[in-house]
Amino acid sequence: VKVEILRDKCVGSGNCVELAKWVFAQDDEDGKVLLVAGSDIPDSDAVMEAALICPVGAIMINGKLV
Ligand code: SF4
Repeated sequence: VKVEILRDKCVGSGNCVELAKWVFAQDDEDGKVLLVAGSDIPDSDAVMEAALICPVGAIMINGKLV
């Protein structure tokens, strides 16, 4: 899947990082999300769940908010 993050929206809650550390990390400087494995990720329930659980809808999957 294609993963895209909307850093402007991210509030640094870290939920996505807890679910999928191999995909998401938090920036040491501003606490906002970073993609650590690029944007082309193998299908993963954890990544879908991370997008669903993000409190501000900052994670897009295949170009859409889930
Ligand atoms: S769950 Fe959403 S708001 Fe929280 S760190 Fe991840 S992208 Fe940012």
